[in-house]
Amino acid sequence: MSHLDTLSVHAGREDFSRLGVHAPPIDLSTTYPTPDLGIGTASFDALVAGEASAANPIYARLHNPTVARVESAIAQLEGMDACVAYGSGMAALTAVLLDAKSRGNHVLAVRPLYGTADHLLASGLCGLETEFVAADDIAAKLRPDTALVIIETPANPTLQLVDIAAVVAAAGSVPVLVDSSFAPACIQRPAEHGAAYVLHSATKFLSGHGDVIAGVVSCSEARAKPLRTVRAATGALLHPLAAYLLHRGLATLNLRVERAQANAQTIAERLAAHPAVAAVHFPLLHDGAQAAIYRKQMRGPGALLAFELAQGYAGAAAMLAAVRLCTPAVSLGSVDTLIQHPAGLTHRVVSEAARAQHGIGPGLIRLSVGIEHVEDIWADLARALNAAVSAGTAPRALASA
Ligand SMILES: *Cc1c(COP(=O)(O)O)cnc(C)c1O
Repeated sequence: MSHLDTLSVHAGREDFSRLGVHAPPIDLSTTYPTPDLGIGTASFDALVAGEASAANPIYARLHNPTVARVESAIAQLEGMDACVAYGSGMAALTAVLLDAKSRGNHVLAVRPLYGTADHLLASGLCGLETEFVAADDIAAKLRPDTALVIIETPANPTLQLVDIAAVVAAAGSVPVLVDSSFAPACIQRPAEHGAAYVLHSATKFLSGHGDVIAGVVSCSEARAKPLRTVRAATGALLHPLAAYLLHRGLATLNLRVERAQANAQTIAERLAAHPAVAAVHFPLLHDGAQAAIYRKQMRGPGALLAFELAQGYAGAAAMLAAVRLCTPAVSLGSVDTLIQHPAGLTHRVVSEAARAQHGIGPGLIRLSVGIEHVEDIWADLARALNAAVSAGTAPRALASA
């Protein structure tokens, strides 16, 4: 069962025939009877130390079998030993940072990053000093107390790609975390390029229907143990009902991504040819070194794209007000098309200087293309683009009057 299409349907369900079930059992227990105190104590010790399971689950903050199923499925998709699931992508990143703090106080990170990830790192909230560097400067900026290197590729919101293998080589013995939320395993498997941690906001493509907030980190079993300990200590749990929905979402992950990225390719090409659009950012349209990274580590462009409106902020605001089929909303990776303004919403918490330096400007729009019929998506966008053009021309005409 090695093909990803098959794994996405069957992983984490290996014991179904033995159990005589056809859907994952949802275990909502918060506590578990411990009639044998010896087994209870040994299980408690094992789970607090970060073991994946024990004879008795003891308490739902230490272990939940429904969550463990989807963790097993995601680890298999990523081609890694283990996966630890959290209540959100940000909780997952926080757990990796808290664990990194035990090794050193310094983190290197490559911008752009998801806005709240940037904010968490820049604020020093986890007690770490984060230095934002260009990917090419990582080797030069390593310090003896560097505990982690963080990259996001494709990056939110500009779709900039980072060469995972090159960063891993530059980081030497320091583990590299790749936030691969924009590119699920059918498109990109960072472990194949040496990533120590693969993080997904499972809120996005993995669950895929806009009804689950979740985060997952895949890694070696040795790295997973302290992450489970952090989860048990901080309580950043994934609820078993959310784990069930996430597991159900995985079954259609590859199909959804295939359709959405085919739609995205058509939309990207049409946007690039549209007079209201000054630039389109989409991995298939990257050139030079970025195109080489695309060919090296991605098996498809994904379903996210960003574009710059010639009419700037006024055009962006008019476009968001004009869409009818596409939903003007943050988040991404859902079955439906979502459109949003990074500078005004998701990347609001990033410093203005960093936004300017990394191309998160007033006319930038991010689009997460869904699985609707591509002509319906395009008709909506084309109409909204016309609204953007009129919004941009009116004030200019007035100003010159
Ligand atoms: C959404 C997102 C996150 C945060 O995930 P949540 O589930 O919203 O906490 C992290 N990284 C990227 C790239 C994201 O898009």
